[in-house]
Amino acid sequence: MQELIAGLRCIVGDAYVVDAPNDLAPYLSDWRGRYTGQALCAVRPASTEELAAVVRLCADHGVAIVPQGGNTGLVGGSVPCQGGEVIVLTGRLNRVREVDTANNTITVEAGCTLAAVQEAAQDHDRLFPLSLAAEGTCQIGGNLSTNAGGVHVLRYGNTRELTLGLEVVLPDGQIWNGLRGLRKDNTGYDLKHLFIGAEGTLGIITAAVLKLFPLPRSRSVGWVALRDADAAIELLALMRGTAGDRLSAFEIVGRPALELVLKHMPGTSDPLSDAHDWYALVELSDPAAGDITAPLLEEGLGEAMESGLVLDAVLAASEAQAAALWSLRENISEAQRVEGISIKHDVSVPVSRIPDFLREAGAALRSEFPDVRIVAFGHVGDGNLHYNMSKPDASDNATFIAQTPRVNRIVHDSVAAKNGSISAEHGLGQLKREEIRRYKQPLELELMKAIKRSLDPKGLMNPRKLL
Ligand code: FAD
Repeated sequence: MQELIAGLRCIVGDAYVVDAPNDLAPYLSDWRGRYTGQALCAVRPASTEELAAVVRLCADHGVAIVPQGGNTGLVGGSVPCQGGEVIVLTGRLNRVREVDTANNTITVEAGCTLAAVQEAAQDHDRLFPLSLAAEGTCQIGGNLSTNAGGVHVLRYGNTRELTLGLEVVLPDGQIWNGLRGLRKDNTGYDLKHLFIGAEGTLGIITAAVLKLFPLPRSRSVGWVALRDADAAIELLALMRGTAGDRLSAFEIVGRPALELVLKHMPGTSDPLSDAHDWYALVELSDPAAGDITAPLLEEGLGEAMESGLVLDAVLAASEAQAAALWSLRENISEAQRVEGISIKHDVSVPVSRIPDFLREAGAALRSEFPDVRIVAFGHVGDGNLHYNMSKPDASDNATFIAQTPRVNRIVHDSVAAKNGSISAEHGLGQLKREEIRRYKQPLELELMKAIKRSLDPKGLMNPRKLL
């Protein structure tokens, strides 16, 4: 293996091969600290050509590769798990190659952080709408490889829907240049979709052509106390009717989730005087400047209050207040991390079935695990819930966490009964690799394996993840 490491040093330069244990450690554990593996080294190529040479050399030595972007993934996909892999870090591929305002596209390298892509778009008076709480750290290659969702899927779609073209280094080191900025291209199989959401198991994405949109010039944000979870779905329909496509986010937050944020995140406060079981964060936006979205939000919420769907509400009167309301939603993951370990689920069901899911899964969990604390929140407009549970008492919690398989079974069976998905936006990685076998049709799994075998016959790309 010393020969391989020497070869990697020749390709990227001495400074960009990390193998000293202390330097390597940050790349071996995932964001949640749930998975820690071992690797031969981590390599930081600076260009697609360098990265391709790294992949070729590893393939020649029969050494497996783990692609890693911002390492904010939540399913353990970005860290090694069999030992002896080479971690390929994409952070130095961080150039914005082109912004084409007439075509409304931006071409960026995989190692650009999501925030950098948003800023580059904004510099050209455009919006790149993908937005999630990890955007300062996660990278666009990671977003593509997990088909990240986030808070604006409702209006703009997930990463897959925002992508027009890709450049990918294949498992044998060949470079596929599919960087086309076309909205119409019916020339056979659309190969980019194979790599989006593949979690690095089919190749390494090195660049992408992404869609841009007009920059919103008016935005209104409301924090709303709901009658119950059913009211969220009714309010969503009402706001869609009132605001149409201007409805750019619709998030649900259960009281336990808000309480964790208020407890652990300094500077946060409850915007409403009374406590309520369920809240919605509603955002409207429009490319035109002026008083466009606020009257629509007031009209919709006024109607909802009259009909009893909404019990109380606060509307942001400034960008600072809007950011403060958003911080209540965006800090939930971090607050949970500070609180301690919980059993987490990232599930989706048809929007119309969310209240049934919450009722049924909640009742089943409470009957087996009295005192369970259910922290539910998420992108309800997309049918996507983050549905996490723990025991408030730390000593009870350790025993509860040992029941993870049983808890997963209750939650995931309830999701499956509603024709839902056990991974809405985080992927499978290591976390759900076994679990998915229970819920995906054997034929679908076989087709996925056939694709994997065809592109990566030696099984060197991110082994033991996803499949
Ligand atoms: P990594 O964690 O580095 O990698 C993720 C996977 O992609 C791994 O399997 C890795 O091998 C692979 N990979 C990385 N780069 C490449 C590449 N260039 N080519 C091929 N494979 C690659 N996710 C959402 O979808 N919506 C949310 O709202 C959301 N909120 C979050 C909030 C917080 C606080 C945190 C910590 C995470 C959140 N996430 C969310 C999860 C995470 O941010 C996303 O999955 C993100 O897309 C991962 O990007 P990354 O660069 O960190 O990828």
